[in-house]
Amino acid sequence: MCGIFGYSGNKKTKEAIFNGLKRLEYRGYDSWGIAILNDNKIHQYKNIGEIKKDDNLAKLQDGTVGIGHTRWATHGGVTTKNAHPHLSSHNEFTLVQNGIVENFDSLKKELLKKKEKFTTETDTEVIVKLIEQELVKKKTLKDAIITVFKRLEGRNTIAVLDSKSGKIYAVRNGSPLVLGIAQDGTYLASDTLSFSTATNKVVLLDDYDMVEIDGKNVEIRNVITKEKKKMVIKELKHQ
Ligand code: GLU
Repeated sequence: MCGIFGYSGNKKTKEAIFNGLKRLEYRGYDSWGIAILNDNKIHQYKNIGEIKKDDNLAKLQDGTVGIGHTRWATHGGVTTKNAHPHLSSHNEFTLVQNGIVENFDSLKKELLKKKEKFTTETDTEVIVKLIEQELVKKKTLKDAIITVFKRLEGRNTIAVLDSKSGKIYAVRNGSPLVLGIAQDGTYLASDTLSFSTATNKVVLLDDYDMVEIDGKNVEIRNVITKEKKKMVIKELKHQ
């Protein structure tokens, strides 16, 4: 299963993402990682094995926007390099994925024909390269993500941290993703339990819903119907 946890708001987020990933541990994982935006630069920490604090995590820059991931390897071994988030070639964005890109082989062949170079064996890097190719065509990052996500076969959720705008974009299909609405900002995760005491106000998302998160400002749009969706906030009693 594995998991995704993200935050955008006015609080420092490293500790919150770390704790969020700990709460997603029950889903199973073999490696993990965190990306945080600080001064429009993406800073990353990745490791294999148990989610625990070490000197390198202590050195990771903190900031008010970030995404984290627990990986259960499907494509490529359990290595720090293959762990998520995966940075784009020019550090414009970084991406995490839950799921399996079922048409990985044909997409990778297409990219290899275009002379793309890969540094990991993951299906995730294929998503990153496809988005980069759309960016070269002068698409916005948001439109590039939509174009590429629609090409992915299989059950997938991706979350992308944009270094320029500081926004998080995330979209799901068949793999879970929920929002947590708090006073200080917006949370994003694979389940509502991982929000713990941060918030009990949640927004459930449907397949192909894309969220664009900028602190407390959130837009939800279905990428197939292109319709903007109203935020339906549910209050959970058990959080
Ligand atoms: N297929 C991706 C990988 O192997 C993501 C696996 C996951 O859902 O954690 O890295």
